Amino acid sequence: MIERTLVILKPSALQRGLVGEVTHRFERKGLRLAGMKMMQLTDHLLDEHYAHLINKPFFQRVKDSMMAAPVIACCIEGVDAVQTVRTLAGPTNGRLAAPGTIRGDYSMSVQENIIHTSDSPENAAVELTRFFKPEEMFAYKQVAFDYLYATD
Ligand code: UDP
Repeated sequence: MIERTLVILKPSALQRGLVGEVTHRFERKGLRLAGMKMMQLTDHLLDEHYAHLINKPFFQRVKDSMMAAPVIACCIEGVDAVQTVRTLAGPTNGRLAAPGTIRGDYSMSVQENIIHTSDSPENAAVELTRFFKPEEMFAYKQVAFDYLYATD
């Protein structure tokens, strides 16, 4: 099933000059970039985006970290893209994430863990609507598609 998912390259990715390297990993894997934009996140947007953390003691700290510099929001598409991107990202704690994953290779922190990725197809749909207008996501033929997926 072809899915779209939201990836946010967090302020830590921009400040550490990792935007190209992280984006390259998604491209190299064979995922298609359907949308990409730089944004300054706001308190209101983060209250919605991280609503599941609202009662956590670290909520304000996480929001401050996400507003400390601009972010790059990406819409990434592919077969099973939500889980595939989660696997590429690795678990939340960068110190526990395996080498080879984005968080495992580039982070030493729970909070400053380089990227956000949607955690389910349902949430991906809600999050993409929150971050992108319809005309900011692009449908175009990925010429390598047949070579990437063959018959599976
Ligand atoms: N976070 C944190 N401390 C925690 C849990 C989460 O600083 O104990 C931050 C971290 O940056 C994480 C974000 O809050 O990426 C969202 O948390 P979530 O549990 O949704 O993890 P994710 O889906 O990003 O792995």
